[in-house]
Amino acid sequence: MNSVPEYFGCMVFDDKAMKSRLPKETYKAMKKTIQDGKRLDIAVANVVANAMKDWAVENGATHFTHWFQPMTGITAEKHDSFISPCKDGSVIMEFSGKELVRGEPDASSFPSGGLRATFEARGYTAWDPTSYAFIKEGVLCIPTAFCSYGGEALDMKTPLLRSMEAIGKQAVRILKLFGQDDVTSVKTTVGPEQEYFLVDKDMYNKRKDLIFTGRTLFGAKPPKGQELDDHYFGSIKPRVAAFMKDLNEELWKLGILAKTEHNEVAPAQHELAPIFSTTNIATDHNQLTMEIMQKVAKKHNMICLLHEKPFAGVNGSGKHNNWSISTNKGVNLLEPGETPYDNAQFLLFLCAVIKAVDDYQDLLRISVASAGNDHRLGANEAPPAVVSMFLGDELNEILESIENETAYDAKEKVQMKVGVHVLPRFPKDTTDRNRTSPFAFTGNKFEFRMLGSANSIAGANIVLNTAVAESLKSYADRLEGVDNFEDALHELIKKTIKDHKRIIFNGNGYDDEWIKEAERRGLLNLKTTPDCVAHLLDEKNVKLFEEHKVFTRAELEARYEIRLENYCKTINIEALTMIDMVNKDILPAISSYVGELSKTAATKKSCFASADCSYEEKTVTRLSALSASIYSKVSDLESALISLKSAADEAEEAEMFKSVIIPKMQELRAVTDEAECITSAEYWPYPSYGELLFGVR
Ligand code: ADP
Ligand code: MG
Repeated sequence: MNSVPEYFGCMVFDDKAMKSRLPKETYKAMKKTIQDGKRLDIAVANVVANAMKDWAVENGATHFTHWFQPMTGITAEKHDSFISPCKDGSVIMEFSGKELVRGEPDASSFPSGGLRATFEARGYTAWDPTSYAFIKEGVLCIPTAFCSYGGEALDMKTPLLRSMEAIGKQAVRILKLFGQDDVTSVKTTVGPEQEYFLVDKDMYNKRKDLIFTGRTLFGAKPPKGQELDDHYFGSIKPRVAAFMKDLNEELWKLGILAKTEHNEVAPAQHELAPIFSTTNIATDHNQLTMEIMQKVAKKHNMICLLHEKPFAGVNGSGKHNNWSISTNKGVNLLEPGETPYDNAQFLLFLCAVIKAVDDYQDLLRISVASAGNDHRLGANEAPPAVVSMFLGDELNEILESIENETAYDAKEKVQMKVGVHVLPRFPKDTTDRNRTSPFAFTGNKFEFRMLGSANSIAGANIVLNTAVAESLKSYADRLEGVDNFEDALHELIKKTIKDHKRIIFNGNGYDDEWIKEAERRGLLNLKTTPDCVAHLLDEKNVKLFEEHKVFTRAELEARYEIRLENYCKTINIEALTMIDMVNKDILPAISSYVGELSKTAATKKSCFASADCSYEEKTVTRLSALSASIYSKVSDLESALISLKSAADEAEEAEMFKSVIIPKMQELRAVTDEAECITSAEYWPYPSYGELLFGVR
């Protein structure tokens, strides 16, 4: 194998490939399209398509696909080969500009939330030239957006690109006020840290719950869990190290900047972090990373679990979304500056984020809501369902002194007035990394920590980009054309701090006291998916998305429906899986074991009338009682599922899943896990938690 710099990005039709393979003029036109988001001329597209095809064929590709991200949260592709028949019966490899730019997959089975009636089911896909084409398993993949014929977004990429445009436009307006006329575009950047579990494939294959739902629905606590913290950052086991090596190679070939890898807190849990990139690229790359993790794990006879809570009682998996804003000059707008004037600008962007997070707490919460993530948020390892922000002591003090017009530095007695003269240089990166905050400032970026490991990061970034675009818009509207810019700026920052300081919390986010305090502050605590999703259609939220042209009302209504539908379906599958496991495997196993113990006791008694059969007898009694209870609870769950048919609409159904089905599933699990603890391992039909969590050696 060549060295990393040699093969990095070898499967990507990136700038280097374009430069070497496209005629100069075409390359220039292509660059312009990428930079300004302009439409590609069909003549140019034809040249690009042909060069792309030649490159792909040389690299072993036979097919191409429009690779898109429907509202399932994962990616979709339909392969077409390049072959085109010739008169003499042979074939040539062809690919036209038309095929590159636009596709028409018959994708009628993807969720559309009613946006697309089946008679007009053919949505279309359109190339996103800002994300490079790449080869995956012999297929040239073209990153595309997926829309209905009416132009409604049916995917995650379209609204993400729209939200990036929205924040870019408003940020440029603000920068003009600071005299930065040379900035022509502003984009958000993201580095998502991905957590995952690895389990042995043979054991996984024996667990219907993992196969059907991605998480364990039963399983008694093992003697050892994560209490010793001996896994976190521990040395990586050879089998896992071999997986990581392969994974890195695959990712690097695709130009994905995989950077950091380590063991996480729970046994069998790991993390991968890339170097950050532009948000839509980071999103594409994160989708690819998840897919490739699963593929590479299988090669090593392991399964990569991306579920947010595969195991009860040990940490679940999240995805930290490190987010910032950057100009086309490469300046990070959330980096405290070197001069007071830079810092005034930094403070304004910081305030824009504070205001956005406070005004749209509900949307941020919704963006990470799913049946899987409900198990994690508010559990003791993850941030609570309450959205709050951590800024660190230093920055907090600065904001307080601006708000109260008091001295920031006690020694120097400088009054905090935002403007050219008095704002001090900020000490860089003094943040002490409050790990319990859902939304933390970490020196030059924000880290949004509520995302679940299986989530597409698009949803959270659509909300973040749009909400911050709205803050910036209100600031630009206020500041453009004022006589005294510095005074107006100072007042604006002061007012933002006053109005939105309730969202700032620097203490321990896992503390119960905080939840009470948050309530006193009027912050939302939307604990579950059904609790929060309804707010998606709140007037203020519809207005926000329409104003910035990110979603129309119809698109939001569709997404609302899909979210609830997905929640209901997920829990329904879980409940049915539990019923299947109990009826077909667990109850019969307990029954056999009880039979075996009874037989043993009878045999012992017939040989020795005075034999002590207390173990057999007591266990038979306990297991009989437990199996009776399991049987009654599983019947209960079955009838409850039938009763759901009476729900009037999706919202009511979701509410019933939450308040009726989930508690019944928990009760069923509790008695079953108790039975597992006293049933012979030989009889228990599934690998135990101990085997799953410590099975990869
Ligand atoms: P950790 O949080 O694990 O200590 P870092 O803070 O160094 O690690 O980085 C975490 C992630 O944040 C990485 O993926 C990194 O690339 C990303 N990151 C760093 N700077 C930015 C930025 N300006 N915008 C977005 N993400 C960033
Ligand atoms: Mg981090």
